[in-house]
Amino acid sequence: MAQAKKALAKNNSRQTSPRIVRSSVKTYDNYIGGKWVPSESGEHFENINPADTNDIIGRFALSTSKDVNAAVNAAREAFDGWRNTPAPRRAEILFRLGEILLGNKPRFTADMTREMGKVLKEAGGDVQEAIDCTYYTAGEGRRLHGFTTPAEMPDKFAMCVRQPVGLCGLITPWNFPMAIPSWKLIPALVCGNTVVLKPAEDTPFSTYNLVEACEQAGIPPGVVNLVTGYGENAGAAITNHTALRLISFTGSTETGRTVASACAERNAICSLEMGGKNVIIVMEDADIDLAIEGAVWGAFGTSGQRCTASSRLVVHKKIYKQFCKKLVEHAKRLRVGNGADAKTDMGPVINADAVKKIMGYIDIGQKEDGATLACGGKRLTRGEYARGFFIEPTVFTDVAPDMRIAQEEIFGPVTTVIPTRSLDEAVEIANGVRYGLSAAIYTTDVNRAFRAMNDMYTGIFYVNASTIGAEVHLPFGGTKATGNGHREAGTQVLDIFSEWKSIYVDYSGKLQRAQIDMVEGMG
Ligand code: NDP
Repeated sequence: MAQAKKALAKNNSRQTSPRIVRSSVKTYDNYIGGKWVPSESGEHFENINPADTNDIIGRFALSTSKDVNAAVNAAREAFDGWRNTPAPRRAEILFRLGEILLGNKPRFTADMTREMGKVLKEAGGDVQEAIDCTYYTAGEGRRLHGFTTPAEMPDKFAMCVRQPVGLCGLITPWNFPMAIPSWKLIPALVCGNTVVLKPAEDTPFSTYNLVEACEQAGIPPGVVNLVTGYGENAGAAITNHTALRLISFTGSTETGRTVASACAERNAICSLEMGGKNVIIVMEDADIDLAIEGAVWGAFGTSGQRCTASSRLVVHKKIYKQFCKKLVEHAKRLRVGNGADAKTDMGPVINADAVKKIMGYIDIGQKEDGATLACGGKRLTRGEYARGFFIEPTVFTDVAPDMRIAQEEIFGPVTTVIPTRSLDEAVEIANGVRYGLSAAIYTTDVNRAFRAMNDMYTGIFYVNASTIGAEVHLPFGGTKATGNGHREAGTQVLDIFSEWKSIYVDYSGKLQRAQIDMVEGMG
């Protein structure tokens, strides 16, 4: 309930000027057991455009534990049919899903920009990531490799196969509202699981589009169930549901910890993708203009609301002044506005809570002893910005590694520049945070690139490229407080959504005791 109140307050606080409530606003239901159904409560929450709070995108089902129960029951009923559908057949349906996503890419892109705020190019990238993930992972339907190995006894065969985990709960954040649900959904399905999916309350529409496409592709009823609503209600009901064998969560480290504790309590499998405080190291031999381009893209793409955002730039003292000057020039040139406008470089942040949090960090940064606010730092509220959540691209220079703005995830268009004297020191600073998602180095010295590659303790590392830009066929995830040891994407994601079964076939016709009966002539 606390969350419901928080979210209602969030929606209300989204209003920066009186809002016109149109009676024509569409209502969107849950998808349970192959049917679009309202929540048991009959209540809804509003999905609002963060660039224009007068624009209500839709009213989505406000779900409770009753809806989650219904969705879990549907997933249970569908499970045997789906797991016994040969994986190549499951994959055929997923390839059809890929076609539908591709065919609808422009519409899904525009819907996403409207509900999430990121510029059209980036929203298109998000949809494309879902398409790539679908095609790539569907291919696993004809692989899902297990292995055979010699048995230690004669006339005995040993092999290992993947089996589905069972019923899975998927909980996703708002910043990649189609890509992240697809990273979980598609591998879960190809492995033969059935799912209950809850998207973030700020961006249910893109996930709705994805699930509607699943229906159109012919995924059988009950295999994919969508429940929209608030984290502390619908989300917690999923996390705590004893029939859900696995919870796959992406979101903040704080919520992830709650999810992990609930899963530990009931022995559920739990895979977590959480926060980041990513870093670009720029050495004195780097191509500075290239590094600036990477830093600007990494820091201000998606208004800094990426788990892989470049929120720390550790720059060698020899080029520090020149780097800061160019960075500030570039940041000032970025055109902030509605992401639907092709001229916009950077859209709004997601909601009023985000504005409060980010402005709070900008305030903290200004009070931290020694840090300089080099550009930005203000919320934009006039004219075209009056009804949205716009913040200037913000750069802090002369930042010390232990300052809060250099340690904590801000999740907004704010980056920090930290001077360094050497590669060793840079790596120490870079590793000196609680997160471990993405890191990068700009250098023309191959030895330094390999040293950093070896010494950075992150799940992702780039050389002469920014901290963002993961591709779906490589594993994705992080160390330390970013994750709990799992990886999404690549073939590694199959290890989340399937479990190994070792199988022994004894065709000797007699009792053979492993480790006890020795082969004649041996032992
Ligand atoms: P949150 O942790 O606030 O929410 C994530 C999801 O969890 C939402 O669907 C949310 O619902 C739900 N939720 C909230 N409370 C609970 C609860 N008690 N039980 C179960 N579910 C709950 O994260 P954000 O949506 O704000 O996303 C931003 C965070 O996600 C950042 O920290 C970012 O770094 C991280 N992230 C990590 C990625 C990675 O791969 N490592 C990728 C992308 C983002 P509701 O929306 O209703 O609150």
